[in-house]
Amino acid sequence: MKDASPQTIYLKDYTPFGYVVEGVELTFALAPEATRVKSRIRFAPNPDATDRTFFLHGEDLTLISAAIDGTPVTPTLTEQGLTCEVPDAPFTWEAEVEIAPAKNTALEGLYMSNGMYCTQCEAEGFRKITYYPDRPDVMATFDVRIESDLPVMLSNGNPGTQDGGVAEWHDPWPKPSYLFALVAGDLEARSDSFTTRSGRHVDLNLWVRPGDLGKTAWGMEALRTSMRWDEEVYGREYDLDVFNIVAVDDFNMGAMENKGLNIFNSSAVLASQDTSTDANFERIEAIIAHEYFHNWTGNRITCRDWFQLCLKEGLTVFRDSQFTADQRSAPVKRIGDVIDLRARQFPEDQGPLSHPVRPESFQEINNFYTATVYEKGAEVIGMLKRLVGDEAYDKAVALYFERHDGQACTIEDWLQVFEDTTGRDLSQFKRWYTQSGTPRLSVEESYEGARYTLTFRQRTPATPGQSEKLPQVLPVAVGLLSPGGEEVLPTQLLEVTEPEQSFTFDNMPDRPIPSLLRGFSAPVVLERESDAAEQAFLLAHDTDPYCRWEAGRGLARGSLVASVVDGADPDGAWLDALQAVVTDPALDPAYRALMMGLPTQSELAQALYEKGITPDPDAIRDAVEATVRATADRWADDLPGLSEEARVAEPYAPDAQQSGKRALGTRVLSLVSRLDGGSAAEAQFEAADNMTLKLAALGNLVRLERADDALAAFEAQWKDDRLVMDKWFGIQIMSAPAPVAVERAEALTGHAAFDWTNPNRFRAVMGALVSNHAGFHRADGAGYDFLAGWLARLDEKNPQTAARMATAFQTWRRYDDDRQAKMRAALESLRDKPKLSRDMGEMVARLLG
Ligand SMILES: [Zn+2]
Repeated sequence: MKDASPQTIYLKDYTPFGYVVEGVELTFALAPEATRVKSRIRFAPNPDATDRTFFLHGEDLTLISAAIDGTPVTPTLTEQGLTCEVPDAPFTWEAEVEIAPAKNTALEGLYMSNGMYCTQCEAEGFRKITYYPDRPDVMATFDVRIESDLPVMLSNGNPGTQDGGVAEWHDPWPKPSYLFALVAGDLEARSDSFTTRSGRHVDLNLWVRPGDLGKTAWGMEALRTSMRWDEEVYGREYDLDVFNIVAVDDFNMGAMENKGLNIFNSSAVLASQDTSTDANFERIEAIIAHEYFHNWTGNRITCRDWFQLCLKEGLTVFRDSQFTADQRSAPVKRIGDVIDLRARQFPEDQGPLSHPVRPESFQEINNFYTATVYEKGAEVIGMLKRLVGDEAYDKAVALYFERHDGQACTIEDWLQVFEDTTGRDLSQFKRWYTQSGTPRLSVEESYEGARYTLTFRQRTPATPGQSEKLPQVLPVAVGLLSPGGEEVLPTQLLEVTEPEQSFTFDNMPDRPIPSLLRGFSAPVVLERESDAAEQAFLLAHDTDPYCRWEAGRGLARGSLVASVVDGADPDGAWLDALQAVVTDPALDPAYRALMMGLPTQSELAQALYEKGITPDPDAIRDAVEATVRATADRWADDLPGLSEEARVAEPYAPDAQQSGKRALGTRVLSLVSRLDGGSAAEAQFEAADNMTLKLAALGNLVRLERADDALAAFEAQWKDDRLVMDKWFGIQIMSAPAPVAVERAEALTGHAAFDWTNPNRFRAVMGALVSNHAGFHRADGAGYDFLAGWLARLDEKNPQTAARMATAFQTWRRYDDDRQAKMRAALESLRDKPKLSRDMGEMVARLLG
């Protein structure tokens, strides 16, 4: 029996499970088509619960037998699980089920990837392994026995007996089922060790398929650095004798923090100079840190229910950002995070998928692993830290670990430790968790008799399900500069809590120039009518690296919008001011590279839309290209010197300094290729000894339509490397001239290596098309139909990845009537498809509104 309509689950309906689990024993007899899973679970009535319904989740399982205290029972089975009469006292539940990992294409639960068994249980995959109360507030210790003839068999915790086709694992730390993991296969390890500061010896292993060992050094180094950092900065030590990481080719997400056995998408852990870009290295370092940090923020203290997902994710993203800022450049990391937030979270929060950092309801939790929960969730932690100060933050977090270790918690628990530490009332601040949408902050200034006044007004536009918005706590970091460019007021934190609020600054002999929202101190849209002269002044003088960058960004947006709307030439004053920054040898090359970046075409579409102008993707593309060309012409004399400065003489290293130089060099190459027709790019492609330079060159050649030889050579060299071939697929579409991008994507889906059931390959093609803004939004709707067709197909195999890719349509209401109608039709074709998954059903319904 199948439910007629999917169920919506509400936060307000939370009740604890009627039973506690005192221990879990699992035995796996592995076989691709018929794996047997025996469970032995000790239950006891939960004194904190009133409802004693005994319901165990279970999906796609064949129940072989079930018994309570040794006596066989016959439970009532449904599509979602089972119910059974149980004693009103502690009892032992035993069951045996059969599952077929080889047939599991959704990649949730136990599945196979290249002959290797692996699991993904977050959020609700464990119910596809055995019958269990598969909810995060049920925590238990797990003993696992694996039987197979595979050489490597891993699970959570510490190893027990390991021989003769049997491996036993014991995890002493109580955990929810979503942190369960099992891996078995023909694997090789890079091994190392780490001694915690209290003297625990920890064996570290990074497991890969044979042949991939050469790509594991970076991951191992990142792991050791993360372990040390968490001890030094957060006082958190590792708590098992072994820490295993496994690389898997078929994986829906980036990586998963299963206790003691992290499972990684191979793209998020394998790296080498030849096969990976600097950006890959940095991302891998951050993801390894992120998953490791979850050991405390997520595993030791977990979430009570999935509405609290931001409790572990927001905090852990914040921690991994701090880590990257410490390892690399803090301003560059911060600006990168702002770019990412505006590119992914703002459109989400300003469109039909907008939801609070802590959602109130869902049908399919997989659809809420979003930029809002993760990245806005991290911004909320950053604001809290700014508001209470660094010292109070450290104290509150220490109290959180002390008070809640071993518990499944809520946002209320998290805020309470800050209230208890600081005496502050955080009830208004809590709206950051409950209210959706991006706040708008406008500002007016006045200057009279040496008194300077800033008046802020805040409002948050209505979002789906929330028409009335309350004022939020906005920490606004402000500095003031004199007309001569001196900083007359160093950074101060203003707390805007009212709909309208003024702040005065006395003893200002001259009217100051404000530097607002320093460090991007709150995730808001700053609405300020500032003229180009002021932005140019800040670009030249601001001491805050973010505000200085943002001043340049504001000028770029202004110039590009004028080009789109009036066909105006690019703003020469902006390009000259920018040139002074970009050629300043005192500035970090990575920062200068960021300065050279233009807003994305999607961001410009949003900027136009907010001005009440319907964005035309072709006009935007033309304006961007004209601007890049004008920049190249104007800076022509400086480009050889910049190229030379960006050259790295030392042997390749993916560190901040070298990557910064290469990032600058990549920007410069893009300008040079506008002038020389691609000969410098061709030379770089030939000479490059690393993937960063190689791929940058290839992108330019693709854009110039002179990449045939380079693409063929690249394919011949890398045809057996899945991760590098993902790059080969992606760049041909991403960098293609917009009018041919859809045809390029169509042709590549016919390539023998287009394995569309592999999430990385699917995303390489579809994601690349979506990122080619004018290509995807082609006026005839070919891009929409192409994507919708593939999403319909993938939905039958892998609903999670398909539904997530459907977010490409979230900005559909921005565009002209014709494009809107075509996108609506594409979405409706998905909605009306037979056998629509719960994931896609909910996603499309929300997108259509
Ligand atoms: Zn995470």
